Amino acid sequence: MSNFLLTPGLVLWEMPLGETDKLLTILTPQLGKLTVRARGARRKNSRLAAAAQLLVYSDLKLFSYKDHYTLDEASSLAQFWRIKSDLSLLSLGSYFAELTSILADADAPNAQLLSLLLNALYGLDTLQKPPSLVKAAFELRLLALSGYTPDLSACAVCGNAQPETPMLHLTEGLLHCRTCLIPTPYPSHSASLCKDSLNAMRYVIGAEPKRFLSFALEGLPLERMGKATEAFATTQLDRTLPTLSYYHQMIE
Ligand SMILES: [Zn+2]
Repeated sequence: MSNFLLTPGLVLWEMPLGETDKLLTILTPQLGKLTVRARGARRKNSRLAAAAQLLVYSDLKLFSYKDHYTLDEASSLAQFWRIKSDLSLLSLGSYFAELTSILADADAPNAQLLSLLLNALYGLDTLQKPPSLVKAAFELRLLALSGYTPDLSACAVCGNAQPETPMLHLTEGLLHCRTCLIPTPYPSHSASLCKDSLNAMRYVIGAEPKRFLSFALEGLPLERMGKATEAFATTQLDRTLPTLSYYHQMIE
């Protein structure tokens, strides 16, 4: 069966294909993650050139035939120019896209993931929020939306809701006091938090979808939150992400 579909979509990944084509991974609200061929997108005057690029959000007309998708027409909705003109922001945006791509299912609706990623890109681009704040909040919220919500309500051992020296256990996703140890059958470690970083993380998990960046945190507490969310993401997903290593090279 062949037919045309209309959908908005954000490009999570692009690679050259053949002489002039591109192969794209596109996240859509209703169809999840799709692999789409954009014919001729690398030609100078291609009408698909603007849309067939990493982190561009467009209205798309796709032609589908036997589970293969081809991009037929596109009109871009958001291009995130500020991110594209700054190499460290672009490397952060690429990391957001890779993390989302890992967690998004193919062929399953995922409007929430798409909306989260668009809000994070908007926060970096238009609102010019501090990149380290957007990164920490995005990592935590994305993991939570994907079924990896850490339980930050109270120390998992003694039940204290406001531990003096809170820590996040990275494999179990549990809060504990520095002095309350969580037994695990394998070597593990925890990330150190503080009152402010813990409160910010609780906020991010519980916030309304469009408000997850609406908090203030800076200095050491933001650094602690950032270290904890990054370590939690890489521990839970059990992999290293090339885009994350590249981002660290860019900002160091
Ligand atoms: Zn405790």
